[in-house]
Amino acid sequence: MTENSSKAQHGQGRTCVITRRACFSSSHRYWLPEFSADDNSAYFGACALAPGHGHNYELIVSMAGDLDRDGMVLNLSEVKRSISNEVTDQLDFRFLNDAWPEFDINKADGCLPTTEALVRIIWNRLQPHLPIIALRLYEHPRLWADYLGNAMDAYVTIRAHFAAAHRLAKEELSQEENEKIYGKCARPNGHGHNYLVDVTVRGSINARTGMVCDLSALQFLVDDLIVETFDHTNLNKDIPYFSSCVPTAENIALHIADLLTKPIKAMGANLHKIRLQESPNNAAEVYAELPQLNAIPEMLETMETNYKRA
Ligand SMILES: [Zn+2]
Ligand SMILES: [Zn+2]
Repeated sequence: MTENSSKAQHGQGRTCVITRRACFSSSHRYWLPEFSADDNSAYFGACALAPGHGHNYELIVSMAGDLDRDGMVLNLSEVKRSISNEVTDQLDFRFLNDAWPEFDINKADGCLPTTEALVRIIWNRLQPHLPIIALRLYEHPRLWADYLGNAMDAYVTIRAHFAAAHRLAKEELSQEENEKIYGKCARPNGHGHNYLVDVTVRGSINARTGMVCDLSALQFLVDDLIVETFDHTNLNKDIPYFSSCVPTAENIALHIADLLTKPIKAMGANLHKIRLQESPNNAAEVYAELPQLNAIPEMLETMETNYKRA
């Protein structure tokens, strides 16, 4: 073997994860024939309105495999072609309810094309062609679903925002000691952040509604318990929990997890994760279900998308 040919095969056989992004625009409508018009609108709100509405979807596809002699897990042109043939060419500029038979609600096993139902069907259609290990589908910047190939189990994340002030300091310490620990964050009059909070729930996709849980109820819960409570407050002074607990990003994320775990359980889903982003430069994550379950793969979190640029 020449030196050149051994160099050409550097890495061959070693495992690697690759990620590919694809976009499509589609419309859909949430409406079930077995419900009355009133029940459809009570259940699905504005999503039940005829003739439907649309989203610019972003799909993140993670694949794993061993490097070939050309230094690739897969040929990216083939990856692109498979995603186009199996997904985007079939869905782009289409009405999802009509695009695939899985979403034909006039059939007994038809299911509404929610984000979580759609990402699962995309998995089923891509899996024969690509070594996928995880999929994420963004419906918009504040709603996305992850699917890891586990039967009807899916993850849905909603993003909320609140603005709040805080000061990082322990009451029992002097100003000097606090500044040694918390730096500028211990300055006496506090400072503020625009917090982004991502609430991830895990649950079983309902075979008919396509939903892991009632999304508008989840949104109401997060608005009511988190946004309304924390927005435009001084966390140290206005939130009793933080009168005795330093409101670091980590502690705020933990407190949010504690506030949401039970009510989400009561809705029939499980709080999986809270991710609290304090600034473009720092965030804290709390896994409410660990160690029983594996976390959502990191490559889905780090992929830069139109929707998740820092
Ligand atoms: Zn929609
Ligand atoms: Zn701060």
